[in-house]
Amino acid sequence: MTAGKNEAGEGASLDWRDEFQDSALEALYRRTMQLQDAQQLRYALWIIAGIFLLFGAADYILLGASLQLLALLLIRLVVALSCLALARLIGRQPAQAHRPRPLNLVYFIAISGLLLSILLHPGSVGLHISSVAVSSLAIYLLVPNRLPWILAWNGYLAGGFILVAALWKPLSPGMLVSSILILSFANLMGWLTYSRLNRLQRKQFALLVAEREVNRKLQKEIEERQLLEAQLRHMASTDPLTGIANRRHFFELAEREFRRAQREGTPLAIFMVDIDLFKTLNDHHGHATGDLVLTTVASCCASMLRETDIIGRYGGEEFVIALPQADLETATFIAERLRHKVTSLRLPMLDEGQHLSVTVGISQVEPNEARLELALQRADDALYAGKARGRNCVVVAGEAPSSIVARA
Ligand code: GH3
Ligand code: MG
Ligand code: MG
Repeated sequence: MTAGKNEAGEGASLDWRDEFQDSALEALYRRTMQLQDAQQLRYALWIIAGIFLLFGAADYILLGASLQLLALLLIRLVVALSCLALARLIGRQPAQAHRPRPLNLVYFIAISGLLLSILLHPGSVGLHISSVAVSSLAIYLLVPNRLPWILAWNGYLAGGFILVAALWKPLSPGMLVSSILILSFANLMGWLTYSRLNRLQRKQFALLVAEREVNRKLQKEIEERQLLEAQLRHMASTDPLTGIANRRHFFELAEREFRRAQREGTPLAIFMVDIDLFKTLNDHHGHATGDLVLTTVASCCASMLRETDIIGRYGGEEFVIALPQADLETATFIAERLRHKVTSLRLPMLDEGQHLSVTVGISQVEPNEARLELALQRADDALYAGKARGRNCVVVAGEAPSSIVARA
């Protein structure tokens, strides 16, 4: 047990009834113990009913068939039946084990029955004292109940016995004092044992609750860290303005596709996309509008691509796209569609008649090429060839300037 756990267990202090001072904790403890207490109480009631009935045989041996025996058997039957009825009720509704009313009714019937049986029984005082002392211990230890009720019913039992003895079974002063001492001792032992058991159980429960709380906090911390980690990963891989992959993350993903393409001999096309005359747009409309246009073009490009394609912000107003499984013909077709889509974008922040356009340079990864950067460089060269040719066009790398496939 760690020092922390000890502190937690000792922090939950108990009152004179050996219950938690914190009423919410006590309620939680009682709720947790309900099923166990109900089961224990049922066993106790069966045992008490059985013992009460068994003593009927002793009565018969002592009294023979007589009216007194009949009265005693009747008392024993009432006590046993009331115990069994309560056991049945608790079996069906375990919550009744913690309700004082049914339990107190059975206490009253059983203790009154015991006192009445002493009255009718011819046995010696010593025998009666021992039966009262055993019953007293049973109330402390066998029946799970709250301490004030236990003390009250033990008071009724001991007081009732002294009264019965004083009124109907006169005792010598010595026997009376001995009886009182024996009963006091039985009560003291019962109380001490009850107290020890209850304190131990509650301390264990408090430790369990404290441990659960620590685990809950730990779990929460783990979840917060995982969330933070995911946020950090997202921040580290995403371009904050456009929401697409940043350059570093683009390379991570594209390198994977590059290796796959080289291994499997499948095509991999690369686009370099640059917004035309973006500086002018920035100068005329301001940086904030420029940002908005950048974001719009990025989502326009992303919306044109397949799930397997990879798009990233290469820098400034340039985007880079990797298209696995796309040969040059397909890539050119897609690039042309992309260029056309950007041209047809209607942006409310731009002047009437002012259109946005992009120039796209395309390259393809060559078989046995060592590095992805080589293909990127070819796409970049094609892009600048397109700029030189007047922008708003698609240029395939390595082909003659006539390979400008479209121009607005
Ligand atoms: P070209 O057609 O030759 O590409 O001309 P251009 O004006 O687009 O090219 P240039 O490289 O001269 O200018 C790019 C501009 O993009 C310059 C810079 O101010 C702007 N820019 C780069 N990053 C951002 C950004 O994050 N937000 C905004 N608003 N502007 C940016
Ligand atoms: Mg530009
Ligand atoms: Mg540029």
